Amino acid sequence: MPTQSFATRDWRSLPALVPAPGGAVVCAPDGTCRRSELAEARALFRSGDVLVAHAAFISGRLKTPPAAALFDVLELFAFVRPAAPCVPSALGLARVLGLPPPRSQDESARALRNVAQTLIAMIGDAPEAARTNMRALAGSLHRAGWRWSPAILAVLGAAEQQSPLAGFESWRSLPQWEDDQAPDKPGSAPISSDEARTRLNQLVGSSGEQRPEQAAYSDAATYAFGARDDAGAPRVALVEAGTGVGKTLGYLAPASLWAEKNGPGLWISTYTRNLQRQIVQEIAHLYPDPVERNEKAVVRKGRENYLCLLNFEEAAKRTALAPGQRSVALGLIARWVGATPDGDVSGAGFPAFLGASLPLSEITDRRGECVYAACPHYRTCFIERAIRRARHAPIVVANHALVIAQASQDWMAIDETTDAPPERRVRYVFDEGHHLFDAADSGFAPLLSGVEMADLRRWIRGPEGRARSRMRGLQERLRDLTLDDPKASEALDACLSAAGMLAGEGWMSRLHGGGPRGPGELFLASAYQHVRARSEDSESFYTLEADTQPLGGELLAAAQDLALGLKRLSAPLLALAALLRKQMDDKTEELESYSRARIEAAARGLVWRGRFVVPTWIQMLENLAGERSADFVDWFEIAREDGRDVDVGLERHWVDPTIPLARDVLAPAHGALITSATLRDISEGVDDWASAEVRTGAGHLPQPPRRASFGSPFRYAEQARIFIVKDVNRRDIDQVAAAYRELFLASAGGALGLFTAVRTLRAVEQRIAAPLNDAGVTLYAQHVDRLDTGALVDLFRAEENACLLGTDALRDGVDVPGRSLRLAVFDKVPWPKPTILHKARRVRFGKGYDDLLTRFRLKQAFGRLIRGAGDKGCFVILEAAMPTRLLTAFPPDAPIKRCGLAEAIADIRAFLS
Ligand code: SF4
Repeated sequence: MPTQSFATRDWRSLPALVPAPGGAVVCAPDGTCRRSELAEARALFRSGDVLVAHAAFISGRLKTPPAAALFDVLELFAFVRPAAPCVPSALGLARVLGLPPPRSQDESARALRNVAQTLIAMIGDAPEAARTNMRALAGSLHRAGWRWSPAILAVLGAAEQQSPLAGFESWRSLPQWEDDQAPDKPGSAPISSDEARTRLNQLVGSSGEQRPEQAAYSDAATYAFGARDDAGAPRVALVEAGTGVGKTLGYLAPASLWAEKNGPGLWISTYTRNLQRQIVQEIAHLYPDPVERNEKAVVRKGRENYLCLLNFEEAAKRTALAPGQRSVALGLIARWVGATPDGDVSGAGFPAFLGASLPLSEITDRRGECVYAACPHYRTCFIERAIRRARHAPIVVANHALVIAQASQDWMAIDETTDAPPERRVRYVFDEGHHLFDAADSGFAPLLSGVEMADLRRWIRGPEGRARSRMRGLQERLRDLTLDDPKASEALDACLSAAGMLAGEGWMSRLHGGGPRGPGELFLASAYQHVRARSEDSESFYTLEADTQPLGGELLAAAQDLALGLKRLSAPLLALAALLRKQMDDKTEELESYSRARIEAAARGLVWRGRFVVPTWIQMLENLAGERSADFVDWFEIAREDGRDVDVGLERHWVDPTIPLARDVLAPAHGALITSATLRDISEGVDDWASAEVRTGAGHLPQPPRRASFGSPFRYAEQARIFIVKDVNRRDIDQVAAAYRELFLASAGGALGLFTAVRTLRAVEQRIAAPLNDAGVTLYAQHVDRLDTGALVDLFRAEENACLLGTDALRDGVDVPGRSLRLAVFDKVPWPKPTILHKARRVRFGKGYDDLLTRFRLKQAFGRLIRGAGDKGCFVILEAAMPTRLLTAFPPDAPIKRCGLAEAIADIRAFLS
C-alpha cells in the first residue's frame, strides 16, 4: 500500500512544475512563479508532491525517474473526461476545457492549477450514474495509491465496501453486436461526370468555394468508378493534384455516388493516421448528421490498433489494486473503455500518455492471440464490431497496410486450393498514393527472425517460460475438438513436437550468453556472427546488415537444419486445418454457430501459417545455397534500437514490391483511383508519368491507367522561399547547430528541423534547446522526448511558436496547416541510404533512381509548408552541394536562392515577419 503521506496531501497546497531547459518553472500555490535549477526541479519531481502534466514527458526532460505516484493533471482529465481528445500539455488541457490558453511557461504552470480546479468541479456537476461509477473507481484507485482519489472522493463521498475490481469492469456494460447477414455483392452501375459534378456542388456548397481545378479533378477521378471491361484489367486512374485543389471532396463526389448505387465496397485508403482522421472530417459534408455518418463511414485499422477486452480484463485482474502507476493506468483505461465509441487505441481519444506505465501490447491483440468465438467478450469485442460494421458500410476508411494485408491473406488463407487472388468487386481510392510502393514493400516482405519464430512457437505451444501471457497454445485451444478424432490428435501432436525446433522465449539472452537451443536458435546464432563479421562497424548504434553471399559452411548447415525442421512443421499444420474443416462438413447439422466460428478461425490460422509463412521461410533458407531469384533481395540483419539488439534474422524483400501489389490488390479489383500531390517525378528528358506508374504498380496492369494532373492554386512566388545555404560546414556540429538556432529564431519558431541521422539530431537539440527557450520558443525533439511521433506533432501543432526536430521520415506525419509551420530546415540533401536493398533497386530502376527518391522526399517535405492560400513558408537546405537537377522537386514559380547563412536568415526574417 502507498505511504499515507502520498495519499493525504491536499493538491491545492502543492506547487506546479513545467520543464524548461536547465531545470523547470515552478509555480507556488499563490501563483508566483520562479525558475528552478535542474537539481531542485528533479528533487521536487521525484518527491511526487507537485502538479504536472505528462509525467513521462517531464521525466525525459529532467532525465530522472518520476515518483511512484504524483499529481499528473492529465490523469485527472482522463478520469473526468474519458475518451475526449486532448493534446497532452497544459496548453492542450486549457484549450479543451475552454480556459485561457497559456502563452508562456509561467502561465502554463499556473494553468495546471486552474485545469485541476475545473476538472474537480466537473465531477461535482456530473449526473448521478456517472458519479456512482467515478466513486467506485476512485475508491479502488485510492487503495492502489492514486493521488487524485482523496480530492475526488471529497466531492463524491467515500466509496462503500466494494469488490476489489469495482470501477474496473467497464467491459460489462458494453453493447453487443448483432449477427449480420452477408453483405450484398457490389454492383457496377456507372457514374456520369454530370452526376459527379452535381454531387461535388452539393458537397462544396456549404463551404461556398467553387474551384474549377476541383471540378476537373473530380471528372478525372470518375473514371475509376465506371464498369470494368475485362477481368483482371481494373479501371485505374492516376490523378495528381497539387496542394489546395481540394482532392478529398473531389473524389468523394463520384465515390459516394458509386457507393450509393452499388452497395458496400468502397475502400478509401491512406498511409497516415492523420489523413484518415481528416477524411472522416470531410465526410461530414456528405453526412452532416453524426449518427448517420457513424453508420455510413467506418474507419478500419489493423487488429493491433484496438483494445482486446480479454487481454484488458486479465491485466486488470492481475494488477488492480497493486500500488503503482500500472493500476492507475488500467483504471483510467477502464473509464475509456466505457466511453470510447470504437476501442481504437491509436485514435485521438485514447489517453496515449498512459503507455509509459502500461505497454499497449498487453491490452491489444498484437500477437495473434485472439480466441475468437471462444472468448467471453466475443459479442462485445471492439474488433469484431468494427469488422461487421465495415462489411455493411457504404464507405470504409482504411490504410494501405490493412488493404494489402487483407488482400494477400484473403487468397492465401481462405482456401488452400486457390492459386489466384479472388475477384473483388470493390473500388479503391488510394489517397497518399505516392506511399503505395513503401506500403507494399513492408506488406510483402517475409521475415525469418528470432521474434517471428518465437511468436509462431508461442502460437502453437503456448507460453513456456515465466512469461506473463494468457495466450493458449493449440493444445488448449483445440483439445476438445480433437478428442474423438485420432487423426486430428496425431496432427496436433506433430505440430507441438515440430514447433520445438523454433527459437523460443528468451532466445536473445541465450544467443548473447552462448547457449542457443535447437535448430532455430543455432541458425540465429550463426547469422548473428555472420552479420557482425561482415559489418563495417559491428558496435554500431544502428541496425546492421550483411549480404547472404558468400556464406560460411556453419551458417549454411544451420540453415539446412532449420529448413528440415520447418518442413516437419508445415505438413501437420495443414493436415490439422483440413481435418478441422472436415469436422465442420461432417457435423453440419449439429454444430452451433459458435463452434463453427471457432473451428473456422482455427483452420484459417493454421492454413495461413502452414501454407504461407512456413513454406516461405523454407524457400528463403533453401535459396541461401541455390540460385537467387532476380525478383528478391535477401540479407541478414541485426535490428537495433538505440544501440540495443532487438531482433536477428533473414530478410526478404521484392526488388519491385509493386508486382505483388498489382497482382494481389489492384488486378482483382474493378477500379482504383490512385491520387496524391506528389505522384510524378519531374526531371528533364524523362516521361513524367513513368515514375508514377513505377511507384504505384499501375505499369504492371494489362490496361494502361488514365492519367491527369492538376497544379496547385497557391501562388508560390508570393507564398514561399527556398534557400540553399552554401557556407555551413556540415562536419562541424557546432556550426550546424548554430545555423538551426539562428534560422529558428529568425522565424520566431514555427519550424521543423529534419535530419538524416539521429546522432546529429540529438547533438543539435542539446545545443539549441536552452537559447531557444530563452527566446520563448519551445523545442520538441523525436528520439529525445519520450513521446510517440503523433503526440509530438500534436504538441507542435498546438503551439504557434514551437519547433520540432525529427528524422527525415517524420515529414510524412506532419500535417500542420497555418502559422504553426512556417519554416522547414534539412541538415543535408536527403539521399537514400545505401542499403543492400537500395543497391538492388538502383540496379533495377536505373541510375536516376537516387535522384527520383530524393526529389520525392524534397517535394513531400516542401508540401508540408504551404497548406492554405494564406500560408507563407521558407524551406532551407544546409548543403551547398545540392545538385541543380533536384530543384525540379519544387514548384516552378517558387523562388530559389543559393546564398550564405547570414543572407538566408535576414531574408527569412523579413519574409515571415
Ligand atoms: S474476441 Fe479476440 S480480440 Fe476480441 S476481446 Fe476476445 S480475444 Fe480479444
